[in-house]
Amino acid sequence: MTEITLYNTRTRSKERFRPIDPANVRMYVCGPTVYDRAHIGNARPVVVFDLLFRLLRHAYGEGHVTYVRNFTDVDDKINARAAAENRPIRELTDETIAWYHADMAALGVLPPTHEPRATEFIPEMVAMIETLIARGHAYEAQGHVLFAVASFPAYGRFANRSLDEMQAGARVEVAPYKRDPMDFVLWKPSSSAEPGWPSPWGHGRPGWHIECSAMSEALLGASFDIHGGGIDLVFPHHENEIAQSMCAHPDSDFARFWMHNGFLNVEGEKMSKSLGNFFTVRDLLDQGIPSEVIRFVLMSTHYRQPMDFTERKAEEAEKTLRRWEQLLIERPGARSSPALQYHGFAPAVLAALADDLNTPKAISELHALYEEAKGVELVESNRALTQLQVSASLLGLNLDIAESAARRKGIAETLEGIDAIQTLIERRAEAKRARDFATADHIRDSLLKAGVLLKDHAGGTNWERTREFDASRLEALR
Ligand SMILES: [Zn+2]
Repeated sequence: MTEITLYNTRTRSKERFRPIDPANVRMYVCGPTVYDRAHIGNARPVVVFDLLFRLLRHAYGEGHVTYVRNFTDVDDKINARAAAENRPIRELTDETIAWYHADMAALGVLPPTHEPRATEFIPEMVAMIETLIARGHAYEAQGHVLFAVASFPAYGRFANRSLDEMQAGARVEVAPYKRDPMDFVLWKPSSSAEPGWPSPWGHGRPGWHIECSAMSEALLGASFDIHGGGIDLVFPHHENEIAQSMCAHPDSDFARFWMHNGFLNVEGEKMSKSLGNFFTVRDLLDQGIPSEVIRFVLMSTHYRQPMDFTERKAEEAEKTLRRWEQLLIERPGARSSPALQYHGFAPAVLAALADDLNTPKAISELHALYEEAKGVELVESNRALTQLQVSASLLGLNLDIAESAARRKGIAETLEGIDAIQTLIERRAEAKRARDFATADHIRDSLLKAGVLLKDHAGGTNWERTREFDASRLEALR
């Protein structure tokens, strides 16, 4: 069993991860509000928690991890966008969700187990609000229902904020119907033009925070293992989720581990449309940055650190990935040799990930595997080369050269060269079978002059590129 340690925002320390039920490890991550394309900052938590999902599936088994990531599809920003574009809300949210799925799949992100839409869980939210009112933690005022912060003495403890700090923040928008400026909305009235649902408090819609409390409970239960999101969600969103869920279910733990990823800047600056450094994932893909390069850059900084997405990092990442792929192309025997078919992950890569998702360390271990693999002449004993490919897949990096060949003409040409070598190897085998050893030797010598060394073994012939490799000589042999 892989020992996993994770930094827990709740205790502000790294802790050994022990799931409540190893047969069903449960994780909830706050998903996007769907009215626009995901930008590169939005993609960071998606990749971070995809890595954690992959690690947990590896440690506990693919069928033993439940990952929930929601879509917030009721929100004033969505209403405003739909009104501005004069479109039905559902059309806008459906379109945005389809974009999101396409962009995240391009980044090699596995689909979560459940992707609930807030609008599909309104009855669960209404029921939770009723419980909170019944327990004295919420009150109705002018068609609104508010959470009474004073009823939960632990409020602010999670985000480690003092009462003064929280009050100063809350005073920006004090509504007359609030008993306390910090009280937050659980339910609010909707006009006929706004989306709304019937409730004991009239036609209205839920506040944002109650969504995650209700959906996580419906899909994962009142106590589950991990709750994640961006660092900007710690306060007030996660503080409020905790207040709601703990007051609705005082005997539960809600989430045991809380994980938050750091901010993302672009070229050293906070992303903003006015600075001209605002990029959606689609913008970057359209600029020709390959999807696995974006993923690689996102993983090159530890998830808790602020990350700077730069063009230079993308260039470096692309060079690295091409070097690794090139080695796999040059020594294709490593992929087909039965002795090497499955070595599993390199233990050092797995250990790095299991140590609070230390991706920079995992990547440096992949570099080490590459260096080791380069130095091994004999394909049959090149454990490092297979481990490089298999371990990269644990990070969601697909070093499948056939796929990358389709992406890039340069490597596609190299693959044509591989086809040419394979054809010559077959021709040589035919000549040997016909006992035409002169032709067989001629093919072997010509290939060696072009920098391709043939190695016969019981099952056939492997080849390797030598330092004298010369593509034009190989071309002349075709
Ligand atoms: Zn949430």
